[in-house]
Amino acid sequence: MEIKTVGVIGAGQMGNGIAHVMAMAGYDVLLNDISQDSLDKALKTIEKNMDRQVSKDQITAAAKEGALARISATATLSDLGKTDLVIESATEKEAVKSAIFEQLIPHLEPHTILTSNTSSISITRLASRTDRPEKFMGLHFMNPVPVMKLVELIRGIATDDDTYQTCLEIVSRLNKTAASAEDFPAFIVNRILVPMINEACYTLYEGVGDVASIDSAMKLGANHPMGPLELADFIGLDTCLSIMQVLYDGLADTKYRPCPLLVKYVEAGWLGRKTKRGFYDYTGETPVPTR
Ligand code: NAD
Repeated sequence: MEIKTVGVIGAGQMGNGIAHVMAMAGYDVLLNDISQDSLDKALKTIEKNMDRQVSKDQITAAAKEGALARISATATLSDLGKTDLVIESATEKEAVKSAIFEQLIPHLEPHTILTSNTSSISITRLASRTDRPEKFMGLHFMNPVPVMKLVELIRGIATDDDTYQTCLEIVSRLNKTAASAEDFPAFIVNRILVPMINEACYTLYEGVGDVASIDSAMKLGANHPMGPLELADFIGLDTCLSIMQVLYDGLADTKYRPCPLLVKYVEAGWLGRKTKRGFYDYTGETPVPTR
């Protein structure tokens, strides 16, 4: 099936990146968010990130202008009804995502494919609450979207072959690589990555090391490009906690128990880079460890 127009729901850090790469690949993009402020910020971020790509000679100024012209923002969800593909990338809460699909469905064209960028929520369950479980799947981008090469493709139990093939072709048009994962909690990348981040939080919580030692230990000792706490701040501590909760509930194994310190940070509203405080303080020029 040919996809021309793409609706992206949620204009946060992932949604703006998805709109960016989709527009660069030639798709017309309609970006939606409940918050006008998020939409305004997203358009500015996309332009700034494209400017950076121009300055690094990764794209031309003309390609940037063309891509920006293909992105429109709307705070009205029903405007996305006319798109060929919807990528839902709103807050990682099942109730939020289900409510979005419920509101959108009466406005959709029959051929529209629905996807979710969820990091961990069951694709089969989200799909079952729509009118088209066979045209529903997980399209899981990595952060930052314009830089990271992987997209996980997750088929729900009902996803048909046409939908899967169409999404596979989209990933290849984005010049990214697909990894297919079965629909089990947190799929592949986060099933492995987020428990490691949670363990880093326990290492901090139990006083085994401070923020700086934990991060340099994993950067220099395990050759990770970012330390786990730095990475947690980058992903968003609320997102990390939601993923741990999905693993804990979905697999019913105490090894996935969210670290109480991570819970406390989220309760405090210290969500990482996006709130300027997490395991590091981002208010100054360079991030400063907080513990
Ligand atoms: P974010 O907090 O930066 O952005 C979420 C956006 O969703 C916000 O702008 C919010 O206003 C908007 N939103 C909330 N309710 C909405 C609604 N009803 N309708 C429209 N918009 C709504 O979060 P994020 O990091 O961009 O994560 C978004 C999704 O991407 C989540 O499902 C997350 O699990 C997934 N994801 C995140 C990462 C990561 O590293 N952060 C990586 C891969 C996937």
